[in-house]
Amino acid sequence: MNIDIDTCSTCGEDVSKYPKPNCPACGHYIGPPNVREVSRDEEKEALEERYEVVFEMSQEDGSYSNLMALDGALHKTCAVVNVDLDFLYAFLTNDKAL
Ligand SMILES: [Zn+2]
Repeated sequence: MNIDIDTCSTCGEDVSKYPKPNCPACGHYIGPPNVREVSRDEEKEALEERYEVVFEMSQEDGSYSNLMALDGALHKTCAVVNVDLDFLYAFLTNDKAL
């Protein structure tokens, strides 16, 4: 699925180079600029290419088994966000927290 990250889904404004998480025209939340940037197909393809190169290099320098262990561990992880307890309470109890 290809999502249009360059256009505001609410008003159609071009937000491709906009460095903030809300549309400059209508204020709609468009996501963090760094996340929008790395969501581009060319960024994903470049990352995949670097990933494959590292695996090839690890086979040559003898670190393949360590890299596979790291890769396996990374697949079991998830993002963690550390927040203030008051924020967490408001976030979980307020329907409009986002
Ligand atoms: Zn907009």
